[in-house]
Amino acid sequence: PAMEPEISESHKAALRSVKPQLLINGKFEDASGGKTFETLDPRTGDPLMTVAEAQAEDVDRAVKAARQAFDHGPWPRMSGRQRGSIMHKLAALMEKHTEELATLESLDNGKAYATAVSVDVPMAIEFLRYYAGWADKIYGQTIPTEGKIQAYTLREPIGVVGQIIPWNFPILMQAWKLGPALATGNTIVMKVAEQTPLSALRVGELALEAGVPPGVLNIIPGDGPVAGAALASHKGIDKIAFTGSTEVGKIIMRHAAENVIPVTLELGGKSACIICPDADLDEAVRGAHDALFFNHGQCCTAGSRTFVHESIYDEFVKRAAKVASNRRVGDPFDRATQQGPQVSQEQFDKIMGLIDTGVKQGAKLETGGKRHGDRGYFVQPTVFSNVTDDMTIATDEIFGPVQSILKWSTVDEVIRRANDTEYGLAAGVFTKNLNMANTISRALKAGTVWVNTWNQFDCGVPFGGYKTSGIGREKGEAALSHYTQTKAVYMPLEEPLT
Ligand code: ADP
Repeated sequence: PAMEPEISESHKAALRSVKPQLLINGKFEDASGGKTFETLDPRTGDPLMTVAEAQAEDVDRAVKAARQAFDHGPWPRMSGRQRGSIMHKLAALMEKHTEELATLESLDNGKAYATAVSVDVPMAIEFLRYYAGWADKIYGQTIPTEGKIQAYTLREPIGVVGQIIPWNFPILMQAWKLGPALATGNTIVMKVAEQTPLSALRVGELALEAGVPPGVLNIIPGDGPVAGAALASHKGIDKIAFTGSTEVGKIIMRHAAENVIPVTLELGGKSACIICPDADLDEAVRGAHDALFFNHGQCCTAGSRTFVHESIYDEFVKRAAKVASNRRVGDPFDRATQQGPQVSQEQFDKIMGLIDTGVKQGAKLETGGKRHGDRGYFVQPTVFSNVTDDMTIATDEIFGPVQSILKWSTVDEVIRRANDTEYGLAAGVFTKNLNMANTISRALKAGTVWVNTWNQFDCGVPFGGYKTSGIGREKGEAALSHYTQTKAVYMPLEEPLT
């Protein structure tokens, strides 16, 4: 039967909690010229909410507000401990509104509510708490020097930071970016993804309630080539951080080069998940499945090339197809649902096109391959076997629920093939052999390697890409260095008193 998704009373209440405008200088405002766009319900493609669409002039106002807040406001001047305490208040407010935020996340993005409420929102909160804890623990060094001079370093905030985030984990990507930027005393202009502006705007309002001063956090929903480009190229920003496609990442980097500002990029991936012959087969099938299908395949770290040893290949494929075909696809608000709709028509079309290409290029479709249902952006969990390295589904990021299973024979060969990609975000290996685990994890050219697991994202552990998957690291202590600059101070030492 055709699913009739509803907007229930609790959904309506969550939507009413959002001020669908631009957050600039502590106020919610319309975009210049009253420009708006519709954010859509991915279950149906119907409009969900009308949201202000930032234009270049609005971006300019937001950057000026952030500049004013940085140059003259209290945020960079208050103690780290005070900033940390405000961040803790924000985390507590988000915790109080967990269900509302998770509802917004599922409505706007289509992700399973059960996941949003137990993973996305709690992780975002934990993340802010983690960085709140850092706020008073960021300091320089006293450095021994030659002669009668002393030297020490200060770690100062960079200034106004531009941040551009994607739609696949809206609230979590927002927290990843806000945590280190706020803890270190920067002020922020954040461009949220046009597909998923809602949860970020609600968090922006909660930040004001928590005591984040006006102008410190400015949030501008809008289009990439308009608002995003205006932000990335603005002369008034001191740093830019971007998460999204490698293609747009290159554009961002060119803007940063023009303004000679630091840039951090978290970009695409085509992560290899290597299954060794000695792996526990059920665990490996389950692990490789979760590696790819989590969040409907919309993860930059998706294990989108499953390399399986030839000795277990046929059995692995059979079981992988069975697990995928049992995956429950449906309304994200149904508690049993594991997979909701993809985020947009554009993504849906791209995924269906790549599935088509897989078939045309000779991969064997084991399960799925079609649209699920007849409305919205649902895609059947899809598994291809007999995938070879040169096929488009093995080289291009699909960002959908499509598992490609390749066959390998020797360890040297699988390492070479796993590394034979422009990307280097994540990779993983399933084996019981410690030497094998060590050899392969050290040989893989990727910023994260998972052994007998996948999708681990602890706040304290650095995350980022090798090669075209990015520059810099998010999370952990590592991210702090991207949001501070070091000042060296020299001061003569007086002659010793005699
Ligand atoms: P995806 O293909 O997953 O949507 P994008 O890289 O296109 O990834 O988008 C990630 C973020 O970058 C979004 O917030 C989007 O609006 C923004 N963006 C897209 N194009 C540009 C651009 N030319 N300049 C700045 N930001 C952009």
